[in-house]
Amino acid sequence: MKEYPGEALRFTADLMLKRLAKYLRALGYDTLFDEQLTDAEMRDISIAENRILLTRDQDLYEQTPELHSLHVTSQHPLEQFAEVAAQYPVTFRESRFMSRCLECNSVLVEMHPEDVKEDVPPRVYERQEQFYQCLQCDQLFWHGDHVKRLRKKLLSVIE
Ligand SMILES: [Zn+2]
Repeated sequence: MKEYPGEALRFTADLMLKRLAKYLRALGYDTLFDEQLTDAEMRDISIAENRILLTRDQDLYEQTPELHSLHVTSQHPLEQFAEVAAQYPVTFRESRFMSRCLECNSVLVEMHPEDVKEDVPPRVYERQEQFYQCLQCDQLFWHGDHVKRLRKKLLSVIE
């Protein structure tokens, strides 16, 4: 296990690691992923905000303090996730699962079903009882088959 900065695990994922960023967000970890950021900005923000910069770029890894960086070597997202979980105490907590927007990293808010009725397919509305919305980008989430598969996938690595 590696040491990490700050009290809570927080990450920055480089532009090669979009799926990995979504996996970490699904588990509730604050994970910055922003295609507008340069390498230098990702490094500086990671240091300033006590984040661990996950990167496939050897140079960027070497230019970032050890405490704030992990060199991810696999090309496969689930293996990348396993690399992170091998070095940091990444855990699955029911209360944190799907608590963050997979698209933009904001914390999700549970919505009253009536309020989202017009925005979800009727079949989904009938089958689901809980809906979560990102107030930042408006994306809606519910625990459908896709989310169940994601949960299984992540648990296969960290259990
Ligand atoms: Zn969002």
